[in-house]
Amino acid sequence: MAKIIAVANQKGGVGKTTTAVNLSSCLAYKGKKVLLIDIDPQGNSTSGLGVDKKKINKSAYDVLINDVDISETFVSTPIENLLLCPSNIQLAGAEVELVSTISRETRLKNSLDNIKENFDFIIIDCPPSLGLLTLNSLTAANTILVPIQCEYYALEGLSQLMETVKLVQKHLNKELDVEGVVLTMFDARTNLSIQVVEEVKKYFKNKVYRTVIPRNVRLSEAPSYGLPIILYDPKSKGAECYLDLADEVIEYSEEENLV
Ligand code: ADP
Ligand code: MG
Repeated sequence: MAKIIAVANQKGGVGKTTTAVNLSSCLAYKGKKVLLIDIDPQGNSTSGLGVDKKKINKSAYDVLINDVDISETFVSTPIENLLLCPSNIQLAGAEVELVSTISRETRLKNSLDNIKENFDFIIIDCPPSLGLLTLNSLTAANTILVPIQCEYYALEGLSQLMETVKLVQKHLNKELDVEGVVLTMFDARTNLSIQVVEEVKKYFKNKVYRTVIPRNVRLSEAPSYGLPIILYDPKSKGAECYLDLADEVIEYSEEENLV
């Protein structure tokens, strides 16, 4: 049975998509069967894996709104073992259309029931908001993985995010757990980055991954080639760190299975 991880933070530009694409790719590279669901209308995970947003046949939109079987949306990616449920700007309409839909928060969860046994991990790349698309993701997920950028105001908005997690736990998904917090775009040359790491560790304690993702220009170049870092530049620091993060995620999921 797949472990379902929602990569979420309502702030934009903190490294959600970079983490979703590269964590998924590294898990698959290590032999896990992985599905990446792009639930952000911007479709950055989709284009970041070389899939042309304009040529998508069926997408996450059809799953949420038209009851299309999610397996009909699957497209292959440059990584064997990694399938993608793509998205494009059409999904922006879903946020509004879902409001008047029955079981509006559980549509993604329901769509995964039949397919989750076919994967080891299902990773969901969330949009930068706490609207119905993110709620669908948190309702479908076992855990939430929060990327935090090592920047000014890094902790801003996190209490709101954690409130949302509590509300989801109370009303929609009792089992939702915090997978972990990953610090992104770390720059060892700045005191600020070091301070942010300290503060985040105070707040999230043992939920912070040992692996910290550095600011790495290769990570920001890779999407324009439609490749995950592990294929674009396997020797880069970015590739090394996302492989380490994948190890931690696997380690953690295996420990859970032992309990
Ligand atoms: P989000 O999905 O949270 O909006 P992205 O993953 O799209 O954030 O990242 C925002 C921008 O920062 C993108 O241009 C991305 O390429 C870049 N970026 C993300 N992580 C890194 C990193 N570790 N080093 C350098 N650039 C990064
Ligand atoms: Mg994104």
